[in-house]
Amino acid sequence: MFLETGLSPTALAIAAFPFGLIIGSFLNVVILRFPEQLKNSWRHESRDFLGLPEEPTEPLSLATPASRCPSCGAAIKPWHNIPVISYVFLGGKCHACSQSISIQYPLVEIAAGLASGFIVYQFGLSLMAAYCLLFSWVLIALTGIDYREQLLPDQITLPLLWLGLFANLGGTFVPLNDAVIGALAGYLSLWTVFWLFKLITGKEGMGYGDFKLLAALGAWMGWQMLPLIIILSTFVGALVGIVGLLLRARDRQVPMAFGPFLAMAGWIALIWGDTIVAGYLSVFG
Ligand SMILES: [Zn+2]
Repeated sequence: MFLETGLSPTALAIAAFPFGLIIGSFLNVVILRFPEQLKNSWRHESRDFLGLPEEPTEPLSLATPASRCPSCGAAIKPWHNIPVISYVFLGGKCHACSQSISIQYPLVEIAAGLASGFIVYQFGLSLMAAYCLLFSWVLIALTGIDYREQLLPDQITLPLLWLGLFANLGGTFVPLNDAVIGALAGYLSLWTVFWLFKLITGKEGMGYGDFKLLAALGAWMGWQMLPLIIILSTFVGALVGIVGLLLRARDRQVPMAFGPFLAMAGWIALIWGDTIVAGYLSVFG
């Protein structure tokens, strides 16, 4: 399936970039609010289970209440909510209280904009591009949530896995067999490492969310890409961890989320995996 528009790849990319920025602005809301919604419902269920009285909580959804400054509570006006541009014009500060606005907002928007532009440039307006766009946006949301909360919600990782299997029913990325084995091997490989590590050291090095995310990546691009994803993510993760410790930017006791590295490695593998593996095989194979 391919939609012929007569537009050059560059024109398509330029058109997709602002669209991606707007998606990124929505992803920011998901990254901030979805974990809060989950925590509210866990709190509610725990109190219910323990027979404690209901706690009044402010109803929270992705749409309501309207965005406010987290420090002073000032309402964010529509013209303060234009992706990236508003951040630059406000000088990265709240218009009311001058408290800095998190760099997360423009970073997520730019990441979504660049990924969207690049995918449309690479794959045109095709079914493949539509899948890759969804894949990228979901990975950006997961990266943001895991970075902030050390949490990869099942509500996002599992649908990503099912969507990968669905895409490969028709072999969009890989034959279905490879996708199913990819999902199994993705989950079980990290699960095995987790239990060996736990039995030997008594510590937990990862979370179950990481297994589910790797299972999802295996479902999208087949078991053949799993070694590349694991190598890339541990390499970049170790590098960032060491630099962080050297700069004393982070505390050794606080575990570092692994999800963002898995997500980045997964994105690279989906887009360039075949090229990287072919290059590796031509050198060593
Ligand atoms: Zn403010």
